[in-house]
Amino acid sequence: MNTKKTLSLTSRVIIGMVAGILTGFIIRSLFADNGFVDAYIVNGLFDVGGKIFIASLKMLVVPLIFVSLVCGVSSLKDMSTLGRMGGKTLAFYITTTAVAITLALTMGTLFHPGEGADLTAASNFQSAEAPSLGQVLIDMFPTNPINAMAEGKTLQVLVFAILFGVAVSASGKAGERIAGVFSDLNEVIMKLVALLMLVAPYGVFFLMAKLFTSLGLDAIINLAAYFLVLTATLLIHGFVTYGVMFKIFTGLNPMTFFRKMEDAIMFAFSTASSNATIPVSMETAKNRMGVDNKIASFTIPLGATVNMDGTAIMQGVATAFIAQAFNIDLSMGDYLSVILTATLASIGTAGVPGVGLVMLAMVLNQVGLPLEGIALIMGVDRLLDMIRTAVNITGDNCVSVIVAKSEGALDESRFLDPNAGEKEEEFTLSNQDA
Ligand code: ASP
Repeated sequence: MNTKKTLSLTSRVIIGMVAGILTGFIIRSLFADNGFVDAYIVNGLFDVGGKIFIASLKMLVVPLIFVSLVCGVSSLKDMSTLGRMGGKTLAFYITTTAVAITLALTMGTLFHPGEGADLTAASNFQSAEAPSLGQVLIDMFPTNPINAMAEGKTLQVLVFAILFGVAVSASGKAGERIAGVFSDLNEVIMKLVALLMLVAPYGVFFLMAKLFTSLGLDAIINLAAYFLVLTATLLIHGFVTYGVMFKIFTGLNPMTFFRKMEDAIMFAFSTASSNATIPVSMETAKNRMGVDNKIASFTIPLGATVNMDGTAIMQGVATAFIAQAFNIDLSMGDYLSVILTATLASIGTAGVPGVGLVMLAMVLNQVGLPLEGIALIMGVDRLLDMIRTAVNITGDNCVSVIVAKSEGALDESRFLDPNAGEKEEEFTLSNQDA
């Protein structure tokens, strides 16, 4: 095969991202009032290119989750593994989220980002009700699996795929034939992911260029204290909490883990959507980290839906910020209530841009803080959404490797190989078997 050495995917995506950010800034400062640039470049080329890129990522999510999970579950020799794996994964997801909010409330209380905040920006914000635990559980079960897929309801698709996979493995010869088909399909879909990666640098460029022509940086200056405390907490959780947890539970080097997260982090950052990042996150877990498909196909989509530590951190810091801005004292009971509501609110809410703010409304409602507070922080939310989404998916991958290691389903030689996964990322139109 002709192996002309090109730049790695990571380098190409970084170039696309930096070029996009610079282009956005240049347009913003030099062509701010240029009707042509605005209509045809920013709201034309960049907007269309970016939206097509996000749509293509989302297009892969449902088939990828369904096919890979059916493969994963039907390959299990013993179904008790499923319960054990599920239990461990959920326990890690819930614990890390609770740690994240606690850390955020502590940082928010220590650094008082809300003191003296300018309240003039406050306006109305529509609230949403926190779902009850019962409703969250009921909503996990699809009445119609095709509908669940059509509407992209990740948890429902997961439940159906698990049941289907269990039935495949219990169906003898017929099950083996079906499992073979799914295993082939899985390979084809991973190739589709590789195909999409080819255009990722352009997609990321379009998204960044469009965003940075309009990002309100003045708002960040007004809310510098909130922005800094939140970003610092996200970084502490992302590097320290996950790094320590990773070291303790796997004994492996966390720096290798973080280096291998680069692509997924950049996708999460530029799309601000854990859901749209599932294909890359799954590719990272399987091909870069060496997590077996039977674990990754379950932990990654589940994490993208229920495990949002970055979002929880935003809610913790924002709650402290809003309470301080409005001079309202929160009791210990209020803090506990915030931890519980935010953990619950993050389950069953899809990882899409901006959903964290809707969930924040539930948390504020719970402790009686004014929802107008959300308007105060809305102006800077987009950039923070990008950072917290990166933390969200780093948490999913970290737990995925930990669970895989504990189940003896981590290919350590792959994890230790810095170039692992590059072959899978290649996309050539020649027949691979030929
Ligand atoms: N954008 C986040 C995600 O997809 C959710 C949020 O915090 O708004 O993970």
